[in-house]
Amino acid sequence: MKIFYSPEKLNAGINRTRQDKKRVGFVPTMGALHAGHLSLIKQAAKENNTVVVSIFVNPAQFGPRDDLKKYPRPLKKDLALCRKAGVDFIFLPDNKIMYPQGYSTFVNVEGLSEVLCGWSRPGHFRGVTTVVAKLLNIVRPDLLYLGQKDAQQAVIISRMIKDLNFPVKVKVMPTIREKDGLALSSRNTYLSKKERNDAVVLSKALLLAQSLIDNGQRHADRIISRIKELISKKRSARIDYVSIVDLENLMPLKKIRPGCLIALAVRIGKTRLIDNIIIRDGSQNKAKLSPKKGTLLL
Ligand code: AMP
Repeated sequence: MKIFYSPEKLNAGINRTRQDKKRVGFVPTMGALHAGHLSLIKQAAKENNTVVVSIFVNPAQFGPRDDLKKYPRPLKKDLALCRKAGVDFIFLPDNKIMYPQGYSTFVNVEGLSEVLCGWSRPGHFRGVTTVVAKLLNIVRPDLLYLGQKDAQQAVIISRMIKDLNFPVKVKVMPTIREKDGLALSSRNTYLSKKERNDAVVLSKALLLAQSLIDNGQRHADRIISRIKELISKKRSARIDYVSIVDLENLMPLKKIRPGCLIALAVRIGKTRLIDNIIIRDGSQNKAKLSPKKGTLLL
């Protein structure tokens, strides 16, 4: 496994493998790697000859009141995990490399970036799409691996790739969860023991929605109120949003239909957590929280 700090050297390294017509898979991350990241990396290793992982805590996607400073950065552990998972190249840039003095270009996917998480985190997705656009230009992968855990992010990045003609295919992998259902997240480490127990309410709420739908409920507003009711029982929980939207345009839906996304963001104490499920089939949806492994979502 080779570690690169500069785009030019990384590019030269990857280009050497490309000359042998090798397929390059890319997994962008902010580090603090867990089994969710590793599932993306393992999938990339299965489907490509070369696997590139970037580790960069991107300041452009953090708001002034976000957790940029305290975001976990266990670099040694991350590198060991990547080595074990079969990563070939690590890209480890710093802020000065990514945003040198005079930096002034940003990519913004309009509309999609302003709803759901974009509403309470203005500028967040502009930071995400900017850094991903830069990373795609640096790595030039054949396949890009993203997690359904951040479904809105996956929708927005896919839109950007289509709109700006990036020559890359997107693969969205299912959300990896703890045994009790909590979606793995680097931010789970902020939770106290009590908050950790309360946090399971996010996935419980999605399971409730799933079972309401399985039993014939089709009214989005009724499902949303039942979800809110369940979450509000936890005193540590403060709901940011609970929404049922079309997976392509992220616009709210009145009626459940195949291809709708149930997404929520909840603060547990001071930690903001997100989770979601996709309803594949509105009539007989017996799917679990995660769809089949390896599904292409978008
Ligand atoms: P992050 O390091 O949080 O920026 O995440 C990097 C990538 O890992 C993103 O594509 C995330 O959607 C994905 N990811 C994060 N958590 C999970 C999870 N629990 N299951 C699957 N993918 C995940």
